[in-house]
Amino acid sequence: MASPENKLLLDSVRDYLDQIREEGMDGLPMTERPQNLAKDVPINSAPARTRKESTIDMLARVKPSPEMNSTASKYPGIENTADLGSLREFIGECTRCKLHRGRTNIVFGVGDPNADLMFIGEGPGADEDAKGEPFVGRAGQLLTDIIERGMGLKRSQVYICNVVKCRPPENRNPEPDEVLACEPFLFRQIEMVKPRVIVGLGAFAVQCVLRLKTPISKLRGNWHEVRGIKMMPTFHPAYLLRNPGDKRLVWSDIQEVMKTLGLPIAGRGNA
Ligand code: SF4
Repeated sequence: MASPENKLLLDSVRDYLDQIREEGMDGLPMTERPQNLAKDVPINSAPARTRKESTIDMLARVKPSPEMNSTASKYPGIENTADLGSLREFIGECTRCKLHRGRTNIVFGVGDPNADLMFIGEGPGADEDAKGEPFVGRAGQLLTDIIERGMGLKRSQVYICNVVKCRPPENRNPEPDEVLACEPFLFRQIEMVKPRVIVGLGAFAVQCVLRLKTPISKLRGNWHEVRGIKMMPTFHPAYLLRNPGDKRLVWSDIQEVMKTLGLPIAGRGNA
């Protein structure tokens, strides 16, 4: 078991990694001493090995993806799905990408099929995978508080889903092939629900749907557009659990959303 000092250190490292991940990094630069390098050569003079290209780097290069504008081109027949229920049937026990190997449940999405407001996150975590419902762990409870105590809505009045429907192993970021395989389902969900506003939760989900590498700290607070619908990016609730000081920024983003939806703001904001 870790000593109190080591636990403190581990918590600090975890917080730091959480912070830079939210900023869009999913790896740290590495330097590696080549095998044939003399032992007395300082490590800093060795050529740096560039880190593995991130999912967002790769997705940014494939824009504009035909799948972004036409779900039909990727999965023939998907355009004939009439509602969310038939879309879920179309997905079936999906094996279209490697994420199917580790999942317990496909986490399709929940909420009002005619909602004015849609929340999009990155992908299911352990709690979501076990239950088959998005945002049900501690971060999910915070999202529910934002919706219910902050916005004055019921969770059942909005629609909540993710970019990928199956849990990535070890909670890693989804890889480009996994995003490209699963996003036609997200796009079809957006077409069917036709929300007035989308809230993008966290760097990965926002950068995926926008095909941008811009850090979430610069994207949040400004309106963007996804498939013709206004999208407000903001921080992921899991990030807020570790960085509660940034709740005020999320509240400011949510207020913009409430103004656009014509929801009353006075007396709210205690999520
Ligand atoms: S993540 Fe999406 S595409 Fe991949 S197996 Fe799950 S439902 Fe299918």
